[in-house]
Amino acid sequence: MAIGTKLNERCQGICELCNTSPAVHEYTISPKKDDMIENQAALCNTCLENIQTAGSGAYWSFLEGSIWNPEPAIQALSYRILQVYKEEDWANNIISSVELDEDIVQWAMSAFETADVHKDAFGNTLVNGDNVVLTQSLDVKGTSFSAPKGTVVKKIRLVADNTDQVEGKINEQTIVILTKYVKKG
Ligand SMILES: [Zn+2]
Repeated sequence: MAIGTKLNERCQGICELCNTSPAVHEYTISPKKDDMIENQAALCNTCLENIQTAGSGAYWSFLEGSIWNPEPAIQALSYRILQVYKEEDWANNIISSVELDEDIVQWAMSAFETADVHKDAFGNTLVNGDNVVLTQSLDVKGTSFSAPKGTVVKKIRLVADNTDQVEGKINEQTIVILTKYVKKG
């Protein structure tokens, strides 16, 4: 994506990682999705290409400089790339030479976390077809019906893309139930 005016002002037309080549791409650092410049880096073609292909570590020695960029987004992106090469001395040296805010480290590391799983109120992993017990009474939306604590919900279905929710039948009605209110039965 072409670079917006504000981002271009911030980077002054130069790639925020290598600080050499012209910046031509807006790169949003996951898991952020919006196009606020706080969540973006302005990158040159080569940097973007190397991120996408996880190319040779030798390319990235300039991260030693970009990791000190005042923008959290650039720190997070630099740290994230360094993690890919952390077995190599040069990367390991940079990683151990900086102390970033906890938030930034978490942002950087989020790319390496495994997919989230659905867990019940006690941290047990839930899977499709599990039976669960309600740990508190729930009002069923759109009805006057309330399911008492202890109600067994059979054969739940996990809600994709939301690990806080499962679906199950109560009183013949399929409803969404928050995982924090169920216990694996
Ligand atoms: Zn670059």
